[in-house]
Order: sequence, then structure tokens, then C-alpha cells
Amino acid sequence: MTCAMDISCALQDKALTWHPSSDVAQLCHICGQKNCSPEQCPSRPKHAGSKQDQPLTQLYCRFKPAQH
Ligand SMILES: [Zn+2]
Repeated sequence: MTCAMDISCALQDKALTWHPSSDVAQLCHICGQKNCSPEQCPSRPKHAGSKQDQPLTQLYCRFKPAQH
């Protein structure tokens, strides 16, 4: 019983949001924001080789999709 109460409290602490399936495809799967993409996500974890991603990010910013 105590465990179940702990789980419900933990879930309430999380700011859960629900989106229509049509919106989910546009959400960044890293930070969950809508006007973001995994390629240029500021929340993207740094990893080895991130320097190689920098030119790609600049290119992506220059040629943004129309919906951005
Ligand atoms: Zn993002």
C-alpha cells in the first residue's frame, strides 16, 4: 500500500501532458517541445563527435522547414 502511494505521488510530480497523435510526430523526442528538432535540440546530450554536428546544425538553421 505504501508503495502504491509513492508511485501516485511520483506521477503527480511529473507534469504529464498528452498530445494528439498528429502532434506527436512534430514533437522533439529529446526535450518534447513542439518547435524543436532532435538535430538542433539544445537539450541534446553532448557526445563524442559533437563538433561534427555543428556545421549540420548551422545548415539546418539556414534552411529551416516552412513550418518553423
Ligand atoms: Zn528538442
